[in-house]
Amino acid sequence: MSTLEKMQVLADSAQYDLCDYVSHSKSSQVNLPGIYHATGHNGCKIPLFKTLMSNKCKNDCKYCINQSKRDFTRLELSPEELAKAFLHYYNNGYVNGLFLSSGISNEIDETMNKTIETARILRRDYGYQDYIHLKIIPGSSKDSIKRAMSLANRVSLNIEAATKDGLSEITSTKDYNKDILKRIDWMHQIAKKNPDYAKSGHTTQLIVGANDESDYEILKRMDSLYRKADLRRSYFSAFSPVEGTDFEKREACSSDRTAQLYHADALLNDYKFKVKELVFDEDDKLFLNEDPKILAAREMDIFPVEINTAPYRELIRVPGIGPKSARRIMSIRKKMPFKKLEDLQKLGVVIKRAEPYIQLEGAYQNSLDNY
Ligand code: SF4
Repeated sequence: MSTLEKMQVLADSAQYDLCDYVSHSKSSQVNLPGIYHATGHNGCKIPLFKTLMSNKCKNDCKYCINQSKRDFTRLELSPEELAKAFLHYYNNGYVNGLFLSSGISNEIDETMNKTIETARILRRDYGYQDYIHLKIIPGSSKDSIKRAMSLANRVSLNIEAATKDGLSEITSTKDYNKDILKRIDWMHQIAKKNPDYAKSGHTTQLIVGANDESDYEILKRMDSLYRKADLRRSYFSAFSPVEGTDFEKREACSSDRTAQLYHADALLNDYKFKVKELVFDEDDKLFLNEDPKILAAREMDIFPVEINTAPYRELIRVPGIGPKSARRIMSIRKKMPFKKLEDLQKLGVVIKRAEPYIQLEGAYQNSLDNY
């Protein structure tokens, strides 16, 4: 089988490990396997070469196309093959970086060594300086995590579930505390001691709807990782049944649910809300058709806030005001107090959403038409 044929199989196997997956055929002029468009911080799409090194896996994750008991073609690329294939994409301008993951062979560190070796070949043998994202495998040794972080811009370890019980619904081959949480803590400790390692931080991914965990449990776990492990961000992958897996008959998770989780997660990670400020229904689910920030605002007793004096913490709790506009408000009002809604609108404040929650110079502002 040619390298290109292998890449087609491995890239297809890798798409189940993605969030925001966009297939190459829809999003690119180039008909090559493995081109994935990650969403950058400002919402722009960044083309990455995303593949597995190997789709051989000893684990039994019940939702996964690569789980050990499924019968299909198993193959792998060598570090040298993968590095050369990636450079072909990169040098032709098809992608801006590499996102490398792998199924897990019997020896976890043996698999880690292959992904690390690929990054090493790129950095040291070919002088590649651009973006590399490496997946850390649950149960990896501290030494291999450290070596991966020394070569990568970003690393991630998939947490898969929010709780120990939730993970045991999904797999019998990973220990939640030991293989996952302990490794995430190691990543945090290594980053603290080595500020040049994995400078774009570490992230995680969770499969939503593959077990019975609630939105509250999911967000509580993420909040804890943001606060204690300096997690950069979380990805929520909506469970979708795959034929031939244990969960082939389980109901798919709606993308509306993951969209609400992303929304609420941004409130925790970017706005520094506390989980207890979010509003859940009696089953600990987010309300699907309601904006989590507006629901939270209705429960708070801080409103209306005075734009010209409110602290940052209160400004960003106003629907329609984000961290960037809150910072700009704080900087501008030192020189000149705000008097008109129009001035806020120019800073990016969404007036329609903010109006009921703010005052300017002690007065409610009802409509832009007043000016
Ligand atoms: S570890 Fe689990 S999720 Fe990852 S490839 Fe193996 S079976 Fe799939």
